Amino acid sequence: MRISTKLSIAFIGTLLAFIVFVGLSRYSIGEVRKQERRLSQLSIISQELSNVIIGSRIFQDRMVGERNVEESLQVTKEALEAILEDADAVEQKSIRDMLWRVDEFSNVFTRLIQSKRFLDSLDRDVREGVVRFGVDSLETQERLNVLQRDMQANGADPSVLEATEAAIAANPMVWGWLNRAVSVIDRDLLLENNLTRFQENFELARRGYERGFSRLRKNAKLIGDAELVRYLSTLESVMHDLRVVSIEISVAAKVEGDSTDILESHGVQLREMVKRLVERSEADALQHTASLNRIYWIMAAVLLIGGAGLTFWFSVGISRPLSQLSTSFTEIASGNFNLRVPVEGNSEIDNLARVFNDMTDQLRQSYAEVEEKVRKRTNELQLATVRSKKLADAAHEANLAKSAFLATMSHEIRTPLNSIIGFSEMLQETELDEEQRSDLEAIASAGALLLELINDILDLSKIEAGKANLNLTEVDLQETVQEVTSLFRPTLERKGIALSIELSEAMQAPIHTDRTRLQQVLNNLMSNAVKFTETGSIQLKAWTEDHDEDDGPRYYISVTDSGVGIPENKLEGVFHAFTQADSSTTRKYGGTGLGLAICRRIVALMGGEITATSTEGRGSSFNFYFRDFWTTDGIAVENELISKTTALRLSSDLSVLVVEDDPTNFKLIDKILARFQLHPDWAKNGADAVMRVERHRYDLIFMDLQMPEVDGIEATLTIRRKLGVSDRPYIAALTANALKDSRSACVDAGMQDFITKPVSRDAIRAALVRYQDYCEIRHRADSLGDKL
Ligand code: ADP
Repeated sequence: MRISTKLSIAFIGTLLAFIVFVGLSRYSIGEVRKQERRLSQLSIISQELSNVIIGSRIFQDRMVGERNVEESLQVTKEALEAILEDADAVEQKSIRDMLWRVDEFSNVFTRLIQSKRFLDSLDRDVREGVVRFGVDSLETQERLNVLQRDMQANGADPSVLEATEAAIAANPMVWGWLNRAVSVIDRDLLLENNLTRFQENFELARRGYERGFSRLRKNAKLIGDAELVRYLSTLESVMHDLRVVSIEISVAAKVEGDSTDILESHGVQLREMVKRLVERSEADALQHTASLNRIYWIMAAVLLIGGAGLTFWFSVGISRPLSQLSTSFTEIASGNFNLRVPVEGNSEIDNLARVFNDMTDQLRQSYAEVEEKVRKRTNELQLATVRSKKLADAAHEANLAKSAFLATMSHEIRTPLNSIIGFSEMLQETELDEEQRSDLEAIASAGALLLELINDILDLSKIEAGKANLNLTEVDLQETVQEVTSLFRPTLERKGIALSIELSEAMQAPIHTDRTRLQQVLNNLMSNAVKFTETGSIQLKAWTEDHDEDDGPRYYISVTDSGVGIPENKLEGVFHAFTQADSSTTRKYGGTGLGLAICRRIVALMGGEITATSTEGRGSSFNFYFRDFWTTDGIAVENELISKTTALRLSSDLSVLVVEDDPTNFKLIDKILARFQLHPDWAKNGADAVMRVERHRYDLIFMDLQMPEVDGIEATLTIRRKLGVSDRPYIAALTANALKDSRSACVDAGMQDFITKPVSRDAIRAALVRYQDYCEIRHRADSLGDKL
């Protein structure tokens, strides 16, 4: 499967899981919130129902607070209607039932209020009627008393008098029982719902005032007073009202009782229902919270398992093939082009692997081609090497031959040339006409130039052939500079050129170098500066610089002039042999074009380098440095000292081997050693030396370092490896390289001494003295060891 498809599947899967998670969690959160809302509504309902129940009781007790009850009922109803919308079927049934009960409660409560108000007004009317009747009753009593007194005074019929007296006695009784009946219509009794007790008491009072009424009516007939008849009809109406009131109260009490029961029952039912709803909502909320919790855990598990699955899937499908590919790349990079990466599917990695395999195939093919080419080229190269070696050998030989030829020729030419110059000079002193003198001067000057040229060629070829040697001595630089510059003073004065010389303090101390060669370089530079400067000045400066090199500090000398200068493109060429900056130079200034070439080689021999800077028309500056050979190799001076002071007592039986590839050099060393009665064997190279050492025991070996095939260092290492400590010969290195590093290489290889070429008698003698000292120390050490 392609990586992009895998990534799309992973993305879609993650997206779906996310959507499901968000959907489920949002649903559960919504449900929990809904239950919370419902619970808060239910709590309102529960509170309002408490208000209703308590309020209705208070109302029944004190006939106050009916508004509160009505408002609470309204709020309860609204709250129930609000939760009805979101309720399920079961809850809807229950809520509708509650709504019905709330309506019922409301109706009953309204009826109760009406009944209470009606009873209240009835009670009030009856009491007022009784109070009004009380006034009437008092007046009637007064009237009966007056009638009685009149009758007694007028001597009326005793039966009428008796009837009047009976009425006077019955009237207060009626009043008394009426009051008793009024007092029986007591709200407290009704509130206690003790209807039976009310009815019993009222019946007792009723029987009392009705008995009194019958007596009054019976006697009123005898008395025959119209006012009394009216009073009796008023009393009858009051009694009728009382009777009605008692019946109404009985009915109202019954209604109130029933209503209270209904209210109580509805209240209890409603609270019970609210409680059930609350419990249900709480259970629902808990259930949703739990399911939300579950969703989170399930989602976490799904994410964890999905993540692990995806990681595994990607690692199997992407990482592993990629790392296989990377391993293959590494193997290919290390040269295993035969490797093939297995390809199965059609994914990007498989495509990459295919491309990779193609690339490997091409690489293999190219490699084979290259290998073939390299093989061919190597063969050609080997042939060319053999050829060029032959050519190089031939060139070397030719160069040696050239140098030898030049040296011989120069020498041979110099003799007749000297004669030509000498005879020319002699002839100049004789009687000559002008033309003859001018011709003779031309011959002499051409001869002098030729001699200079021959000397230079000889010098250059000697250096090139490695035959130029440094003759190291203590050199006073100040003195040397003075000597060189003094030669040019007359010319400088003639030309009017100022010369300044500046030597740093360090340059005042003696330096170990080749005085003649240093003078040669200085002479050349000064000569050029004087030659190419017409006006202005020449400065000669000398100073030291420490570059932290093993060979010690650099000793710098610079010659700066304000002469014609050198064009920039010619500057490097002036150090090449037979090169002049300007082709007209020879004509104008003379010279051979060899001076700076020789200087460069001499400075290199002295362990330094020469450079030039110049601005055409403004002047040039030639700057070179060299080393103090005491710091690089103090042996030169030491040799002289040792040679002069120490006696040599070496036996002529001493077995000596000289390892030297150059026959001339061997001859020289052989001659020097012969003066000390020593007759060395000759090994022509390192391999020859090893062979000879294996066959014969040598005491002392002079070992050349630069030799073809096996060099001196390698030969020494082999000898030391092959021989035991006591059999090992004393080895002195012979080297043209005087610098420190080759000396330390010799010591590391196990050589005991170090002689710089060209070997002098003093150097060989000093080496023999050091060998003598070494043997003595060894002998003493051996005998000490034996004694011990
Ligand atoms: P020559 O014998 O011709 O002076 P050199 O090797 O000494 O040979 O110099 C090579 C050339 O370098 C000179 O011919 C000259 O052109 C140039 N040259 C050397 N020194 C100077 C100098 N101080 N000022 C200008 N040109 C110089």
